[in-house]
Amino acid sequence: MALIALPDAQQFVLDRCAVLPPVGRAPGEALGCVIAQDCVATEPMPPFANTAMDGYAVRAVDVAGASPDTPVHLQVIDTVLAGAPSSRRVGAEQAVRIMTGAPMPVGADAVVMVERTNAVDEKTVEIFDAAPVGQHVRGVGEDIDPGDVVVTKGLPMTPARVGVLAEMGLESVSVHPRPRVGVVSTGDELVAGGGRLKPGQIRDSNRPALLALARASGFEPVDLGLVADDESAIADAIERGAAECDAMLTSGGVSMGDVDLVKVVLGKLADMRWMQIAIRPAKPFAFGVVDRSGSSAGVPVFGLPGNPVSSLVSFELLARPALRQMAGHAQLHRPQIQAVTDEALTRRPDGKTHFARVRCAYESDGRYHVRSAGGQGSHQLAAMAAADGLAVLPDGVGAGVGERVDVMLLD
Ligand code: AMP
Ligand code: MG
Repeated sequence: MALIALPDAQQFVLDRCAVLPPVGRAPGEALGCVIAQDCVATEPMPPFANTAMDGYAVRAVDVAGASPDTPVHLQVIDTVLAGAPSSRRVGAEQAVRIMTGAPMPVGADAVVMVERTNAVDEKTVEIFDAAPVGQHVRGVGEDIDPGDVVVTKGLPMTPARVGVLAEMGLESVSVHPRPRVGVVSTGDELVAGGGRLKPGQIRDSNRPALLALARASGFEPVDLGLVADDESAIADAIERGAAECDAMLTSGGVSMGDVDLVKVVLGKLADMRWMQIAIRPAKPFAFGVVDRSGSSAGVPVFGLPGNPVSSLVSFELLARPALRQMAGHAQLHRPQIQAVTDEALTRRPDGKTHFARVRCAYESDGRYHVRSAGGQGSHQLAAMAAADGLAVLPDGVGAGVGERVDVMLLD
């Protein structure tokens, strides 16, 4: 089978993963979801002029000549707290005691902070500073005007956006839902959890790792279980996934072995494309769309390789961008940086792009530095666990010490 270039495989997948239709959600329930509407203000913010300081609301004209040596004496006619407007009008040589956030009383046009005043008694205050009109006053609409697009369609929901939408009184906002991503592991040799391993057994690491990756990527993980190398068990898990999920990840059973039954089952359920991608790790990959009964949109299935490092790298390069597209993101890929190698990252020419597991640190010379995170075999999950980046090594002999490499940041 001819090797497919990674960008071609990625495009094939992206062309078949449609963005999920928007739903209404409370902003606080939609953290990380992509916002599907422009959020337009209907009210000004602040809604009324208020003070930015604790102090005295005054008429600028009355305190124009005030200084520490020549304080101005004003009559204090009221105290106003946040949430409780004053009914009094500030007239000539009068002031109102005012607390941060309280509405400016009618007649006053500036605030003198309390530190620049002295309360002589209940009714009299000395003002030590002049205050230009508008001093410490937050004007109506200084932050937001009615009609402003405050949050733009296509942006992800962040905590600050949750805040501003709450400020605007928006209780429901249209967002693309998190894709529900089903994960199934296959293999007779696999067991879940602790306990003593019998000869030939290993623990299922792909399912926990892929479920965690789905969650960490902002998707909703759905555990479809660990199934044996058995056609009907695999078919049951995939049919359950097709009914409950927006996309599915299988791991194992897609290479050229005798019991690669995921291949057999998916071949019956979907129009699958079996690929050998020109990358290392994660060369074998399968992709297809399974029909969902009662729906026009099918369920994309990503047949990831079984080797633990391969399955995670395959997720990163092929599944995650497509799932982000389904979630409505414009930015599909992990950020890439340029780094300098602190040790050689060697490889052999083989027609493939290699993704080396590296540790990456931003150093005082203003550059990112990388080192190998350990053994680079596709079964060596410890190095993947130690890594925070994948160095992209184009076909060739790799990078010597001090050379530049592109690194995809994993967190
Ligand atoms: P397969 O593609 O099913 O032949 O699996 C390739 C390799 O990955 C074999 O060594 C499997 O034991 C291993 N493997 C498959 N699935 C998992 C899994 N869920 N967790 C850990 N290792 C796995
Ligand atoms: Mg297997």
